[in-house]
Amino acid sequence: MSDTDVLIVGGGISGLASAWWLARRGLGVEVWECAPRAGGKIGTDNIAGYLNERAAALALNYRPEVAQLLTESGLDAYKATPLTGRRYLVHQNRLVPVPARLGEMVTSPLWSCGAKLRLLLEPFIPRGNREDETVSEFITRRLGREPLEKAMEPYVSGTLASDPDRTNAEAVLPRLTALERRYGSLAVGALLQRVRSRRRACPTESFSFAGGMSTLIDALARTPGLGLRLGRAVNALAPEGTDGWSVSGTSAQGAHVLKARHVVLSVPAGVAASLLQSLDPELARLLGGIEYSPVCVIHFGFDRSAVRHPLNGVGFLTAREPGQPLNGVLWISTLFPDRAPAGKVLLTCYLGGARAPHVVDWNGERVVSAALRGLRRLLGLSADPEMVQIDRHHQALPLYYGVYLGRTKRINARLERFPGLHLAANYIGGVSVRDRIAGGCEVADRILSVAGRLPPAPAGRPARTPAEISAMSRAAEMRLEH
Ligand SMILES: Cc1cc2nc3c(=O)[nH]c(=O)nc-3n(C[C@H](O)[C@H](O)[C@H](O)COP(=O)(O)OP(=O)(O)OC[C@H]3O[C@@H](n4cnc5c(N)ncnc54)[C@H](O)[C@@H]3O)c2cc1C
Repeated sequence: MSDTDVLIVGGGISGLASAWWLARRGLGVEVWECAPRAGGKIGTDNIAGYLNERAAALALNYRPEVAQLLTESGLDAYKATPLTGRRYLVHQNRLVPVPARLGEMVTSPLWSCGAKLRLLLEPFIPRGNREDETVSEFITRRLGREPLEKAMEPYVSGTLASDPDRTNAEAVLPRLTALERRYGSLAVGALLQRVRSRRRACPTESFSFAGGMSTLIDALARTPGLGLRLGRAVNALAPEGTDGWSVSGTSAQGAHVLKARHVVLSVPAGVAASLLQSLDPELARLLGGIEYSPVCVIHFGFDRSAVRHPLNGVGFLTAREPGQPLNGVLWISTLFPDRAPAGKVLLTCYLGGARAPHVVDWNGERVVSAALRGLRRLLGLSADPEMVQIDRHHQALPLYYGVYLGRTKRINARLERFPGLHLAANYIGGVSVRDRIAGGCEVADRILSVAGRLPPAPAGRPARTPAEISAMSRAAEMRLEH
């Protein structure tokens, strides 16, 4: 006899989102989180009125599951939409707006005439067929070298902390690679989908929440029926015949054991590998082989008068440049004015990643002065910051290197030997908050299909069935926006 239907190990966004979908459908769910707070990487710190995001600062959504969770959890009422979408790229030592439309691209100083002409050839480039193709190879093959250096490389380094020369194209650009597979051309596919997207159910939007991303975490942690145990570290799990799993953990109160019909591991790949080592060394090897990149996040609060640049955008990304540790900067207080005290600005810098992994080990003084050097050059600073906070993530993001989908397929195949054991974390299916919420829905569907229960209808309107949700999701998946 089990103590609970599902035990989720790890209370980051992956674990909490899975818990929300399961609890909403009436299953008993516990989440064991080893830290004293929920949220994992995600967390908002209020430092003298500046709201600093330790990891995710905003979400970009086009998936109906995410919209559904926000509506049904009441989070819609707290949604905060960024005030601008304009982005900049560092080009020849200054900030140049990234063209958002085709017309802007023609006049943009970012692209040479040769690069613009090369784009016209894209529809005539034959399809590729290599599952190990990297982002650099895919983009260069289809669009040329400049789009890689001036768009995709900064995007992959700045938002995924990854190296496009090693990152698997199919794993991190699933919609672009699907366009090629389906239509033979990114341009033709994007055009056709733009026409069809007028009918789409879930428009693309970026958002955070009043009070920052912690509002999302707090709302999920308060899900009715969810048993969230903080400060409880799982150290072993073992199958209990055909009945489920026995999970052991420790906390300041002592040792704990719980029997659950299903266990969801929502912990980093290395932690999952050590929990599974004695059960299946090959599965542990596949998980343990996933590399992570380190990222250092520095938040600076300035008096508005100390920054010459108008800060009229989301922020900027940087192209690869030897010795340059800054990957990107978000102008948070432009996006969400309530994130800094009146008359102040909040700039959040991301350093390190796969481009410069050693930066995470620099001492505070060195990492701050490297970031300030970049800001002085590009934004024109006339005074020192009045608030500085550093967040170091030694294992910030998993790197989807090599034939990544082959690795995840092998992981899933081995998991089939262990009924009731599931993985829901950012090394499978995408690192973004959007993909983590959608991944939680998928794992809940899998558990429900085994448990043979249908989702109960929430008050006021019928619930979507798992099949309906995944059909909507597949439709959304085929759109081009990033
Ligand atoms: C610097 C940075 C910026 C980012 N920016 C964005 C962004 O703007 N937009 C976006 O969409 N995404 C962004 N991301 C990505 C996103 O924030 C992460 O991918 C996501 O938060 C990871 O969630 P997770 O639950 O999978 O993992 P984690 O957040 O790592 O959660 C895992 C949890 O497991 C717990 N745990 C570990 N071991 C045990 C154990 N033995 N027992 C119990 N619990 C355990 C940990 O304490 C942790 O709470 C960013 C990430 C970083 C690092």
